[in-house]
Amino acid sequence: MKTPAQTAHAIPFRVAVVGAGPSGCYAAQALRKGQPDVEIAVFDSLPTPFGLVRYGIAPDHQGAKAVSRQFERVFGQPGVEFVGNVSIGIDIDFESLLENFHAVVLATGLGADRQLDIDLDPDARVVGAGDLVRLLNSDPDARLRHRRAGLESLGAEVVILGTGNVAVDVARLLSKSDLDFIASDVDDDALRAVAPSPVRTIHILGRCQSHLAKWDASMVKELAQVVGVQVSVDGTPLLHEPTMSPRTTVNVRFQQVPTSIRRHDGRIRVTTHRTGDSDLVDHLDADTVITALGFDTSSAQLAQFAGLEAPNVFRVGGPATGRLGNLAENRKLAADTAKGVLAFLRGQEPRHRPGLDGLRGHLPASTVSFQAWQRIDDAEIRRARPDRCRTKFTTRDGLLAAAAGSDALPSIPLATTGPPATQEK
Ligand SMILES: Cc1cc2nc3c(=O)[nH]c(=O)nc-3n(C[C@H](O)[C@H](O)[C@H](O)COP(=O)(O)OP(=O)(O)OC[C@H]3O[C@@H](n4cnc5c(N)ncnc54)[C@H](O)[C@@H]3O)c2cc1C
Repeated sequence: MKTPAQTAHAIPFRVAVVGAGPSGCYAAQALRKGQPDVEIAVFDSLPTPFGLVRYGIAPDHQGAKAVSRQFERVFGQPGVEFVGNVSIGIDIDFESLLENFHAVVLATGLGADRQLDIDLDPDARVVGAGDLVRLLNSDPDARLRHRRAGLESLGAEVVILGTGNVAVDVARLLSKSDLDFIASDVDDDALRAVAPSPVRTIHILGRCQSHLAKWDASMVKELAQVVGVQVSVDGTPLLHEPTMSPRTTVNVRFQQVPTSIRRHDGRIRVTTHRTGDSDLVDHLDADTVITALGFDTSSAQLAQFAGLEAPNVFRVGGPATGRLGNLAENRKLAADTAKGVLAFLRGQEPRHRPGLDGLRGHLPASTVSFQAWQRIDDAEIRRARPDRCRTKFTTRDGLLAAAAGSDALPSIPLATTGPPATQEK
């Protein structure tokens, strides 16, 4: 018996989605809802699906990460394939996608932190919040992991620039103790390399006035409720009863526009001017500056697809809006994009496209299928130390070995008891 799409068009629609992050997964979900027999291949350059749900959302926010279960159900359907460890533009060229699929959806996200555009000493220790959270989420490609100097402590005093939710995520992760990470999947080795003990003083500087901060009040409240953390905003303690001898103090200051970051006496000096009535110039010395200023819209990753305009090429998430956005926003954008894709397809003369089958001979041997991802998932849960929900592999080799079902990895403990898992080599 013919399915609805085959009845109407005699041949099934085949769509390639580039990027298996939330935007790509929501797009696949909405495409299937609109046209249940559309065949979809979702490519990702990483061996694992879910993009920043896995490598961005804070490891102590497992509730938010649980959206991945919804995405798992999409890949569990026949006709929806995960094609992991395949980078479009490197392993498979974009033209091949256009030849083999009726439509292509670009859902590649915004890969890099937005850079500071001020007087900046190139040797000053400045770290992107996205890079840091990727590290703490065990991203094998995390730039901090691959720095020549290796992983270094951020020091006892840090400045975070930016007043969005990512800034609060970073402040919370750096101020928590080991016990606060129970049931998380934080990369313990990386965390204790960059913060051997919770950071003592965190300054969060925002350019705007306090009521214009982009963070959710609930996020700041959660930070203030971490035991041993004292948050003050423009000098006023946030909770009525200040914590006695706090382990970490978080000082939020608004209307601080950074003008330069220089090295000074072995530390980093951030110079700001305060906007508003006073126009004061101020200096703040710290060990590290962390930028949480949003994500880059001019990265090489986006530039790669910038000129690719054709009626059957669609964009969703960062490549469409220039913003990373949150899950709810990206879900809505993906639903709208899926509607546009299906309207386009239904308006076309039916023409055969082989879909993923047309590419099989060109896919790298190390391509990770959905079933192979499930083996990684399973191995990560098995190797978790007892007080963690999973311990991720931190190298591509480790991920690929687990994908292949190899249990020869010396670093995977067979039982869930025993000492913390060490980082695989
Ligand atoms: C620290 C942090 C915390 C966050 N916390 C929350 C939260 O609590 N709640 C919330 O709603 N949102 C949160 N977000 C935002 C959320 O992560 C984003 O809304 C969402 O991940 C964006 O999805 P995306 O698919 O557009 O991009 P991404 O998640 O970045 O996915 C893009 C995917 O495309 C792949 N890709 C890129 N280029 C190629 C290529 N050439 N070939 C193949 N694949 C490619 C990448 O590998 C990646 O997997 C957080 C973000 C960060 C950074």
